[in-house]
Amino acid sequence: MQLNARRYDNQQAVSIVVEDDRLASVTPLQDPPAGLPLVAPGLVDLQVNGHGGQEFNDLDLTVDKVAQVSRAMDAEGVTRYCPTATTQSFEMLSHAMRVIHDACGQVPDVERRVACIHLEGPYLSAQDGPRGAHPLEHCREPDWDEFQRLQEAAGGRIGIHTVSPEYEGSAAFIRKVADSGVLVAIGHTSASTDQIQAAVDAGATMSTHLGNGAHGQIRRHPNYIWDQLADDRLTASLIVDGHHLPAAVVKTFVRAKTIEKCVLVSDITGMAGMPPGLYENSSLGSVEVLEDGRLVVPGQRQLLAGASRPIGVGIATVMEYADVGLADAVAMASQRPASLIGLEPGRLEAGATADLVLFHLAEGRLDVQATVLGGERVYGEL
Ligand SMILES: [Zn+2]
Repeated sequence: MQLNARRYDNQQAVSIVVEDDRLASVTPLQDPPAGLPLVAPGLVDLQVNGHGGQEFNDLDLTVDKVAQVSRAMDAEGVTRYCPTATTQSFEMLSHAMRVIHDACGQVPDVERRVACIHLEGPYLSAQDGPRGAHPLEHCREPDWDEFQRLQEAAGGRIGIHTVSPEYEGSAAFIRKVADSGVLVAIGHTSASTDQIQAAVDAGATMSTHLGNGAHGQIRRHPNYIWDQLADDRLTASLIVDGHHLPAAVVKTFVRAKTIEKCVLVSDITGMAGMPPGLYENSSLGSVEVLEDGRLVVPGQRQLLAGASRPIGVGIATVMEYADVGLADAVAMASQRPASLIGLEPGRLEAGATADLVLFHLAEGRLDVQATVLGGERVYGEL
């Protein structure tokens, strides 16, 4: 396979030759035609709750449905992603873990696309605000035995675990999870300064969607946002979809954390792409899609229930909000999240894995023209 495009990092027109699942060569193109798409390493999304009306948190989840959601990533240029299950009963979570694990084992299309599972909850804050749309009756204290049983159901595929470190046994729990090789993230928390410090000392290395899953009103300082923002040991994941964080917050977070310590996530729920209206969702309960696409807890317009826009929107929006260049914005959605979960970061050079996204940068989004996964065109036209 051979394709012509402009490199995302320096705009140079190149000819890329792909052999099997690797880039064989990347060479400058003389007299490039006008209108060439940009090319970048495939995107990596650490937080995907579902797609096309299907949540991973669903007692009716099947191997086929996991495959459907996985293949839906192709149209967004996402070559590796983390199926994400949120706070629920042990029964529902263990079902989700088992089915995702089975899907990876039975369907090569799933195995190639799933990086690892992100378990967001159930050990999150029970307070209104921090818990967001996570159901109150299922928010609970950390339980190592339960976590181990979920990890067993997942066949060891849980690679990210988001917890609130506000419970008595949080630090000890975090240490065990981190020692087992799982990336521990802080999220949906009302933790104190000391509790956050203890969590990071115990091995937490990420903040999950910093600035969301928080009280509507908090003490000016200290508070858990400053505490996480200031700790250089924490990488922040950010939902930069134009709805979850205002421009000034995104810019301030990116400047304070530095570009190297920020990653973009879509956090899309299975409601992504659904028309406005009220829905009963298997994971989130009652949710409402507003006319502008925002997904909220019904009856009000502030408390978001999740996101519905792809990670490419985050790339375009972080460029606008935080004055970040394309190369850095792509890195925040590709190489950096890959590195966090132990994947080889994508490169545009001979020998690199042939996971590519070809796109045009449009107003507020990426227009994905084609996606190449392991040397195979899985979406669009080259
Ligand atoms: Zn969340």
